[in-house]
Amino acid sequence: MAKNIVVIGAGVAGLTTALLLSKKSGYKIVVAAKHMPGDYDIEYASPWAGANYMPVSISGTDAAEWDKNTWGPLEDLARNNPGAGVHFQECEIHNRTKDVGSATAEWFKELLSSNPWFAKVVPNFRALPKESLGPGIDSATVFTSVCINTAIYLPWLVSQCLSNGVIFKRGVFDHILDATASGIHPNGRVDLVVNCTGLMASKLGGVEDTTVVPARGQIVIVRNDAGKMLDMSGTDDGDEEACYVMTRAAGGGTILGGSYQKGNWESQPDPNLAIRIMKRAVKMCPALTDGKGIEHLDIIRHGVGLRPVREGGTRIEKELIGGVLVVHNYGAGGAGYQSSYGCAQAAVDLIDQAWNVQAKL
Ligand code: FAD
Repeated sequence: MAKNIVVIGAGVAGLTTALLLSKKSGYKIVVAAKHMPGDYDIEYASPWAGANYMPVSISGTDAAEWDKNTWGPLEDLARNNPGAGVHFQECEIHNRTKDVGSATAEWFKELLSSNPWFAKVVPNFRALPKESLGPGIDSATVFTSVCINTAIYLPWLVSQCLSNGVIFKRGVFDHILDATASGIHPNGRVDLVVNCTGLMASKLGGVEDTTVVPARGQIVIVRNDAGKMLDMSGTDDGDEEACYVMTRAAGGGTILGGSYQKGNWESQPDPNLAIRIMKRAVKMCPALTDGKGIEHLDIIRHGVGLRPVREGGTRIEKELIGGVLVVHNYGAGGAGYQSSYGCAQAAVDLIDQAWNVQAKL
């Protein structure tokens, strides 16, 4: 008999988990969420992401394994599935010696290394020659990465799930067990709940994981084209600010970032921060405006998203809550896309094992 599953959450974590589950026989899946692709809300991180593949995970960790396992599927989408809105872009990492020890440089430690673990995973990883670097840049690496147009990719994930028989519905749950209430699953009984609630796992009854906190990311989306992705080891504007540029696939615009403001839930863009983001971006990437100032940026909109950062990293675990089997997949921080397939596969492995394991919990 088919197992009835409710996935809470329709961000990249919930949708990727539902997609991988839907490729297996034996599961009848409902995705229930407060926010769905097409919505823009401060409680919904996924639409705001760049999103690119730029691992910051440390060699030898679960996070690095999940990132590693995600490159193949994303590369395959960029190469073979134009409808997903994922394209290849070169990604340059610019390193300033003066940033050593800063918060961003610590966060980017592996990324800034001249020989990170992913050098053997992504194509064309190499150092850039010193003479090609701009003023103030001490070293740089470059590799072929992907950039995801989230406005295309999230609906594409929904559409793949729908084709495989997944049911989507709106649901707002105060407690995780509310997802097992009558009327949620068409078959009545719910055998397992998958918790993909991102930052809101901090408030969801039965979970209330207070180690999940927001890392606020402010962005400016412009029509200008950068031609490549760029990232910097730090800024001169404090530890909570960052500098990156990436152009989304299929006319999705160019994302200028950013910030990494831990514990900050503010949903409205800060205009002064927006100016600093634009100034840093045109300095790092003069091609955006042909070397001219920020008044030559053509702004589509300003945005703010909250990365769901969890102390101890993404939680992929099973748990028995009130007698109901739960598999968690939340707390991916700034890596929800680049770890999406690895994390979803790890969650699906736990779900596959769950029926044998239930008695031992
Ligand atoms: P979310 O997208 O937040 O989805 C949570 C889902 O759970 C929603 O559907 C919500 O409605 C639902 N939900 C929550 N609580 C409840 C409830 N009680 N009842 C019902 N439904 C509920 N990652 C990368 O890999 N690469 C990048 O380049 C990148 N850039 C980023 C740039 C910015 C500015 C930001 C903000 C993030 C970036 N990220 C990037 C990180 C990435 O966006 C997140 O890791 C990812 O979106 C998290 O996805 P999620 O599905 O876990 O959570």
